[in-house]
Amino acid sequence: MKLEVFLDQHQISQAVERLAGEIQRDYEGMDLLMLGVLKGSFIFMADLVRHLRLPLEMDFVRLSSYGDATESSGRVSMTQGPSGEVKGRPVLIVEDIVDSGLTVDFLMKHLARQGPASVRICALLDKPSRRQVPLSIHYLGFQIPDLFVVGYGLDYGEKYRHLPDICVLKQE
Ligand code: 5GP
Repeated sequence: MKLEVFLDQHQISQAVERLAGEIQRDYEGMDLLMLGVLKGSFIFMADLVRHLRLPLEMDFVRLSSYGDATESSGRVSMTQGPSGEVKGRPVLIVEDIVDSGLTVDFLMKHLARQGPASVRICALLDKPSRRQVPLSIHYLGFQIPDLFVVGYGLDYGEKYRHLPDICVLKQE
């Protein structure tokens, strides 16, 4: 496998700062619950929240739709739900990448049943050409073409999550 840098650390941190600015503006004075989707969003979440000056809380959910392959199985299941109270709160889902949209769609439907005040999506990356369900992403870092990327939290078979850049993984 060969790695090629697609978005470097500088481009990523600029996008994170921009998104944090938008979130800060929109949720000023609110009791925000940020819900990170494990494992991929852990680095994005950690960078994003350190720019925010809000009385926020963080929680994590774990959903699975991918095995070790680069193609979605199309089936989503929740292996760890939010541990705290969602009812009546503004919730911001923090996702590394939206591909088919099935994962976030599943999570939105799950949350809706718990009566949050609002639910929005913040995603670092979006592959709109792969979408299978309509979604609106309120806070988006980058739209990217149909490429398989790793790094900055994203894996391939649990490897490469620690890379500081977002890279394209190519067969040699
Ligand atoms: P969706 O349900 O939108 O098809 O897929 C979302 C999940 O698939 C992401 O949270 C991520 O785990 C995985 N995924 C989608 N595209 C990529 C990609 O290009 N690289 C990696 N590493 N994971 C991806």
